[in-house]
Amino acid sequence: MPPQIVVLGAGYAGTAAIRSLENELEHPDLVWVSKEPHHFVLHEAHRCIRDPSICDKLTIPIEDIKSDHTRFVRGTVTGIETEARDVIIDGDHTIGYDYLIIAIGSQTAFFGIEGLEAHALTLKSPDDARSIHDQITNAAKDATRDEPAQIVIGGLVSRAFKPRVRSLRGATK
Ligand SMILES: Cc1cc2nc3c(=O)[nH]c(=O)nc-3n(C[C@H](O)[C@H](O)[C@H](O)COP(=O)(O)OP(=O)(O)OC[C@H]3O[C@@H](n4cnc5c(N)ncnc54)[C@H](O)[C@@H]3O)c2cc1C
Repeated sequence: MPPQIVVLGAGYAGTAAIRSLENELEHPDLVWVSKEPHHFVLHEAHRCIRDPSICDKLTIPIEDIKSDHTRFVRGTVTGIETEARDVIIDGDHTIGYDYLIIAIGSQTAFFGIEGLEAHALTLKSPDDARSIHDQITNAAKDATRDEPAQIVIGGLVSRAFKPRVRSLRGATK
């Protein structure tokens, strides 16, 4: 019996791990666990903000990535028992492992800045991108020359916003 290898997460790291293990090992016993049944091409998420119809093209079903022998379990990892070598899924069931690869990404940091977590929009998923698109569009609809919409943004994603905001500017009252 080959050892059971469990990979957590279907982002870049988890997907690359699954593909590498499938290619390198002869008969691997692989279990792939993730919250969503797809890999999302996160670094292109800014394109969904401009045009939400692109989200579908950036969402790749797990079944199109993994081999037939790899088992996929959809669920949220809520704990890991290292002594027992068990991953806890959704708080109520476990998957045993011989080897475990943890690739569940990161959480957005708010650095303790007051009000930031309550008001900021994060960008980690297709739903986040659609939500940002909708909120900018709605803010632009409500804006006037005297009371313009105010958007605070930084980093790479700001590049994606500029054309969207520019296109809305002419549409404001
Ligand atoms: C808009 C944007 C643009 C970017 N552009 C670039 C770029 O140009 N170049 C670059 O190098 N990097 C870029 N990055 C950063 C890059 O996307 C991240 O470094 C990369 O996604 C990290 O990969 P990861 O696999 O570690 O995590 P993620 O891609 O975040 O994947 C985590 C996976 O784990 C799953 N998951 C999370 N928690 C759980 C849980 N509890 N249980 C089960 N599953 C869980 C998630 O659903 C997801 O499938 C960009 C990021 C963003 C947001």
